[in-house]
Amino acid sequence: MDFQLERLLNLPNITVFTCQEQEGFIVLKLDLLNEGITCPHCQNYTDHIHQTRSMLIRDLSICGQGVYLHLPRRQFYCAGCKKYPTEPLEFVEKRRNYTIRYNESQGQRGFCGYVGRI
Ligand SMILES: [Zn+2]
Repeated sequence: MDFQLERLLNLPNITVFTCQEQEGFIVLKLDLLNEGITCPHCQNYTDHIHQTRSMLIRDLSICGQGVYLHLPRRQFYCAGCKKYPTEPLEFVEKRRNYTIRYNESQGQRGFCGYVGRI
C-alpha cells in the first residue's frame, strides 16, 4: 500500500517513522529532514548538533482522535557567534506544546461561540 502519512499530516520538512496509540491518543513520531539551520543570531548556517531532546506537541485530531507529535528538539552550536540556538519550527511557536494550527482551531471554536451569543 502506497500510503504516506506525511501527506495527510501536511507539515513541512518532516517524515513519520512510527505511529502508535497511547492512552487514547495517537502519537506520531516524527523526524526532521533538514540537517542544519540558519543561526537566528548571525545568519550563519550550522549543522553542528549540540544536543537533542524530544517534545510532545498537540496537533489537530484525526478522525476524532487526539494527536500528539513526538518531535526532536534540536539545539545547534553556531561557530559564527559561539551561541547554541534551538531549532525554530515553522509550525510550533517557541515554548508552546501545541501546533499553531491546533491553537487556531481552538480559537475559531471560541470565536464562533462568542458570535452565537450576540
Ligand atoms: Zn550564529
